Amino acid sequence: MTRLLNSLMPASNSYMCARIQTAEPHIPRNAGLAELRKAAARCKACDLWKLGTQTVFGEGSEHARVMLVGEQPGDKEDRQGRPFVGPAGAVLDRALAAAGIDRDDVYVTNIVKHFKWEPRGKRRIHKKPNVVEITACRPWLDAEILVVRPEVVILLGATAAQGILGRSFRVSQSRGQWLDSDIAKHVMATGHPSSILRAQDDDTRHEEMARFVDDLRKAAAVFHRLKAAS
Ligand code: SF4
Repeated sequence: MTRLLNSLMPASNSYMCARIQTAEPHIPRNAGLAELRKAAARCKACDLWKLGTQTVFGEGSEHARVMLVGEQPGDKEDRQGRPFVGPAGAVLDRALAAAGIDRDDVYVTNIVKHFKWEPRGKRRIHKKPNVVEITACRPWLDAEILVVRPEVVILLGATAAQGILGRSFRVSQSRGQWLDSDIAKHVMATGHPSSILRAQDDDTRHEEMARFVDDLRKAAAVFHRLKAAS
């Protein structure tokens, strides 16, 4: 399993793992999603378990052809223990529907499984995970990929894309393109739905949503082709 996990990791991450504690020792061998989820609930491989309410593991069919990978759970996801159930999840649902992908056909997860936040008054404000936390948590995503074996992986936003494709990867330069990666046959990076929510005005928000749906439509075309051929 270690060899398989290493083969899924960019060289820079393998190097980092030599120095950073990761979740790998906590991952049960030959486990299905239910067992992985249970083990992840006890993970303390980085300090984020102290901040989040609970581990938010991925969700969806073990046989999903499409996997969507975001950054980390948000406030609502942290409270409910499920990925993409907050405002960004609602945007994602609308975009998937517009692109012709049923959410039941996809597996949704994050590259970091605990909510990282800082207080602002009574609110918990999202804080971007750092390279130590991303590297620590990466083995959980690798384990999900090994079980689900998705044919299409969509990386949502820069944190997920750089966590998988390397820190020099720029979503702004390569979004919507099919990329070479060991994690799946068809890999694409696009924006994160939360960035659509942060758009400065309605026109920008509509434009960003249209771009997001266009990218998902490319994934939908591959998904429907694979489905028809099986
Ligand atoms: S963020 Fe990931 S590695 Fe860190 S404690 Fe949570 S599950 Fe473990």
